[in-house]
Amino acid sequence: MPRVLLTALLLVLGTATPGAAQFPIFDAHVHYSRPDWDVYTPERALSILAGAGVRRAIVSSTPDDGTMKLYEKAPKTVVPFLRPYRTRDDMEKWHSDPGVQAYVEERLKRGIYRGIGEFHLSAADAGGPTVKRLAELAGERDLFMQAHVDDVAIEKLLTLYPKTRFLWAHAGMSLAASTVGRLLERYPKLYVELALRTDVASGGTLDPDWRTVFVKYPDRFMVGTDTWVTSRWEVMRDYHHDVQAWLGQLPRDVAEAIAWKNGERLFPAPSGP
Ligand SMILES: [Zn+2]
Repeated sequence: MPRVLLTALLLVLGTATPGAAQFPIFDAHVHYSRPDWDVYTPERALSILAGAGVRRAIVSSTPDDGTMKLYEKAPKTVVPFLRPYRTRDDMEKWHSDPGVQAYVEERLKRGIYRGIGEFHLSAADAGGPTVKRLAELAGERDLFMQAHVDDVAIEKLLTLYPKTRFLWAHAGMSLAASTVGRLLERYPKLYVELALRTDVASGGTLDPDWRTVFVKYPDRFMVGTDTWVTSRWEVMRDYHHDVQAWLGQLPRDVAEAIAWKNGERLFPAPSGP
């Protein structure tokens, strides 16, 4: 075969290589909680992230020690968020628990956290005294609040605490793209991550409604895995392979923003060695 043809063939094959990562990834939803520690050392967890193309990640955990284990090994990779949960038992009542408030305030003194969350909350509890105090603290210190809540609750949070930036976990989990778009229009302090939202591209094809909101609000979205159970670590590589596939169906600047640039802009890596 003439060399020029061979080169052309290799070029074609090269661009079509399945699994080739196109975009570096900022993953906005990783947990490294106690059950994960027993299975994966911090080094192993970090190598899974790297193997999935994740350059940096928002990490939170129950208890918080898991986040610290990863952060100590890789302070430029891990963007630490502090959950308002000392144990899983805090999930239900944290919104009005003065013990949780004291715990979070004490821990924030370390000055390393970039956000509070991920937390769960119903709209009825959005005005709880601990939520109020933590949201005010977040507003003052420019920390994000990562909220796993429905559309009624996120709207209530954004209305009650207008100085605070919210990172909406899972885009509300099951809400339509158009609803998410409407909220982005109304609330400039709302950001959205897409962990577990396989409806963005079910069957591998980017959904046209999601495409519309991504193109309209390219600076407001991030991708995420959500390692809410240990088995999610095993599928992280495949999950991000699918994410890369739908990112590749967007205009390049939009895809780059959602994959990496938004996370890097909102949570710049600490300087120094
Ligand atoms: Zn989660």
